[in-house]
Amino acid sequence: MKVLKFGGTSVGSAQRMREVAGLVHAPQLGRRIVVLSAMSGTTNALVDIARLLYAQDVAAATAGIEALRQRYHDVAQELLPGGHAPAAIGQLDQHFQTLLDLTTAPLSSDGERVILAQGELLSTLLFHRYVTQVLGHPAVLLPALDFMRLDQDDEPDAAYIREHLAATLAPHAAQQLFITQGYICRSAQGSIDNLKRGGSDYSASLIGAAVEAEEIQIWTDIDGLHNNDPRVVPGTYPIRELSFDEAAELAYFGAKILHPSSVLPARQHGIPVRLLNTMQPDAPGTLISSRTGSEAIKAVAAKDGITAINVKSSRMLLAHGFLRTLFEVFERYRTSIDMITTSEVAVSLTIDDPARLPQILEELRRFGTVEVDENQTIICLVGNLLQDAHGAAHAAFAALQDIPLRMISYGGSPNNISLLVNTVDKTRALLALNEGLFRKPSP
Ligand code: ASP
Ligand code: MG
Repeated sequence: MKVLKFGGTSVGSAQRMREVAGLVHAPQLGRRIVVLSAMSGTTNALVDIARLLYAQDVAAATAGIEALRQRYHDVAQELLPGGHAPAAIGQLDQHFQTLLDLTTAPLSSDGERVILAQGELLSTLLFHRYVTQVLGHPAVLLPALDFMRLDQDDEPDAAYIREHLAATLAPHAAQQLFITQGYICRSAQGSIDNLKRGGSDYSASLIGAAVEAEEIQIWTDIDGLHNNDPRVVPGTYPIRELSFDEAAELAYFGAKILHPSSVLPARQHGIPVRLLNTMQPDAPGTLISSRTGSEAIKAVAAKDGITAINVKSSRMLLAHGFLRTLFEVFERYRTSIDMITTSEVAVSLTIDDPARLPQILEELRRFGTVEVDENQTIICLVGNLLQDAHGAAHAAFAALQDIPLRMISYGGSPNNISLLVNTVDKTRALLALNEGLFRKPSP
């Protein structure tokens, strides 16, 4: 079995859906599960509808629902000619009725999740109808809500997913092509939930792990993970091969193309993940597997919105247990730490979620002097640093000689160096690293 996931842009119009249908038709793919996102813009529109309902602006929410309905009717007309559109529109309208029903009472968080779930239900409905009715290819629509489930800790319940997906597939032993929704799932209590924004990649990886797929393909509108941020740096190029660890670091530290959690299930089961481009289906893309290539530094990614906290305490000198008490503060406020550096009397660390910062700071002040720097950026260099015979780390620091570095973290893992800079210096730093590390494209 293979799993092929297509993102919102890849299914963003009738034309794009037709192209995806062509891609997933290739018979050499064998048995496959196609996981779809919502059409681009839909989840944002649904988020907006929920926000309006929370604000009790029923008129604007209703207008938003009607606008979305119109868009889907138009897509259905275009995608499903020859008399197939009316039945599809009837089915689409059931989903819009679900949305309209939620405007009649104050919105609950359960209601919000029902709203957010409609996007993937709509896109898969249209795509499945196109494949089966217009193209006449056999395909089975698998309801993700029948097998995707969270556990009590709101983490995907791998055992449940494996068992229930197998049961959902069982009646279709002869079928080759399956279609299902990304992103949506049920909570441990059984109500409709989701895997958070961008979660369709995670769905694909969880499904791949559940069926022990031979490969997971993530199709987007860019030709793989790039060696630097293409929005900031000109002339970036796709990295051909990454290890699971390298890909996880890049995804976590800013490469927008892949949901960071999605690497984990694939890694656990040793399933290669291929990042491919719908617009250039023949391009090699990026292969993520347990192999690591030979280049020392393969890529640079940047993550904004970081807060750095420095705690200076004379109590730390020659004391033990200090770091534990310090970290417990972050644990109490369920705030995760990304980077950490220490000296004998001070600790610097970073967080990316400042929601509980005031409470955290109040507790930290009991330890000593606390300083906070907001608007910081983590720049993460990823590669196989064990192979750094050619001094790539040195080249990186040389490239950054004019840029103030607030923190440096090296040696925590064999494939990452993290640097903290002020966000105003980010563009300069990424350009300088590009010059210093990647001036010639990899062979
Ligand atoms: N549709 C969801 C979102 O926009 C999930 C996804 O596309 O991955 O976040
Ligand atoms: Mg995505």
